[in-house]
Amino acid sequence: MSFTLPPLPYAPESLEPHIDAATMVIHHDKHHNAYVTNLNTAVASDATLASKSLEDLIKHIHHLPESVRTAIRNNGGGHWNHSFFWEILNPVETKLSPELEAKIISDFGSVEAMKEQFSKAAISRFGSGWAWVNKADDGKLFISSTPNQDNPLMDVADQKGTPILALDVWEHAYYLKYQNRRPDYIGAFWNVVNWNKVSQHLGK
Ligand code: MN
Repeated sequence: MSFTLPPLPYAPESLEPHIDAATMVIHHDKHHNAYVTNLNTAVASDATLASKSLEDLIKHIHHLPESVRTAIRNNGGGHWNHSFFWEILNPVETKLSPELEAKIISDFGSVEAMKEQFSKAAISRFGSGWAWVNKADDGKLFISSTPNQDNPLMDVADQKGTPILALDVWEHAYYLKYQNRRPDYIGAFWNVVNWNKVSQHLGK
């Protein structure tokens, strides 16, 4: 299977002032595109991988041929994570569905408490990685963070679950506008969250 770069679902400047246009263009057109290109190169190098979906590849990192394991972990993860992340952002103000709000209050105490815990995970991720809100197998929501391009769907993840919300905290996601001020980027992120999409992920 050959993977393709999905278009951004909005104009790159539409998230300003929270996330700047230049960051969005470079992030999507250069970084995400490179993950797709490198993933395709890795998959093409082993015929046993030809029919596998992206989720199938990243959920079974341990079972991949050793020659492509790291490349697919990094680039398959990079492709999945960014495709998910673009959909989590939105220039238009949205609201949590009543179901999502009730679920967050039930599992975290309040929406503010969830945001605080998530922000803490995003701030304290050392180096490059991601923060997540996930649904566990038992249905409970929990927050985690992963290094590099790992994600909670991967068998290599410390905490496994199904993501409903994500934030990229690689420097490439914020450095042009925020430089070393990752907490400011995380604070701004809440202004452009697509709660319709997060609510939809919860329902799946
Ligand atoms: Mn990124």
